Order: sequence, then structure tokens, then C-alpha cells
Amino acid sequence: MVEVYVFKAAFKYREGLWRRIAIKDGQTLADFDGILREAFNHDTWDHLSEFYPVHARGMSGFGEIEPHGGGSGAEVRIADLGLSEGGKLEYVYDFGDNIQHVITLEEIVEPESGVKYPRITAKSKTRKRYCVECKLMGKKTVATWICIECSEEAGADICLCADCLTSEHEDHDAEEIQY
Ligand SMILES: [Zn+2]
Ligand SMILES: [Zn+2]
Repeated sequence: MVEVYVFKAAFKYREGLWRRIAIKDGQTLADFDGILREAFNHDTWDHLSEFYPVHARGMSGFGEIEPHGGGSGAEVRIADLGLSEGGKLEYVYDFGDNIQHVITLEEIVEPESGVKYPRITAKSKTRKRYCVECKLMGKKTVATWICIECSEEAGADICLCADCLTSEHEDHDAEEIQY
């Protein structure tokens, strides 16, 4: 019988930001990697990733996964990870930036009919931040970037919308804000 694994995936150093993902037991780590990239706005065309049994990082992961699904870990099935409810994995995207996520198996359920897996079933609701440049002009615009240079200078996060990043902070290093 086909089962569906329901995972909660969160940034390791920002636990309040998470996505809930449902995936079938017969699907693979390549499928899981694909939906995680989508869920966390990671590039789908660049960078390797890998899943690890929790606490075992540096020892043996389940194998690298390439964008679009190649790599030694790509064919590993979810059912073969040896997880039971409450079990955890670590997922690292981009070995350069080393973006770490903790993934917890919340429950194993029956599949819903007519539903395509894997799928994102819920997302954390994080507080919106607003563009400081727009605020100066009396507008309230949701910020999607943090200017690293100006933030370091100001000693506080300088949040910007995409338009203000382009017009006012063109050559500055910036980091995308995830919600
Ligand atoms: Zn703005
Ligand atoms: Zn700036």
C-alpha cells in the first residue's frame, strides 16, 4: 500500500521559517530535493544538495543530488531512509553557501485521491517587512531584499523592495528575504 510521508522542513538557524511537504514513500530524494528547492526559493538549475541522517553530517550522507535530479543520492526512495514518525534528516543546499535545513517526519498517512505528490501543504506565516526607501516617501511596500552593505553601515537591517534595490542600491550586495 502506498503511504505518504508528511515532513516539516525548516531553516536550521531560522526555525520559524518552515514548509510542510507531503511525498509518497516510493518517490525519491531527487523528487524531495525538487520540491524543497521550490519551497525555499532555491535555484533549480544550479548547485548540488544532499540529505543526511541527522547528527551524521560529515560521516555519510545519502549521496549528492544535482539540479534536475542526477547524482548518487537521486534514486534513494523515501521509504528506504529508515525513518519513523518524529525522525529527522538534515538537508544542505549549495555546498558553497551551506544552507542547512532540518526536516522532521511528522506523520505517515494515506494518499488523498486526485492529488499530485510531492506537494507543499503549508507554510509558516512570518512577519512581513517593509521597504525603508518607500517608507520615506510615505508608501508601504513589502520588502523582498536586505541591502548587506547599508545594513552593516546602519547596524540594522535595511529592507528594500525590488524597485528601490535597483534604483537606490544598484551596486550593493543584497540578500533576498524569505517569507
Ligand atoms: Zn521601495
Ligand atoms: Zn544599500
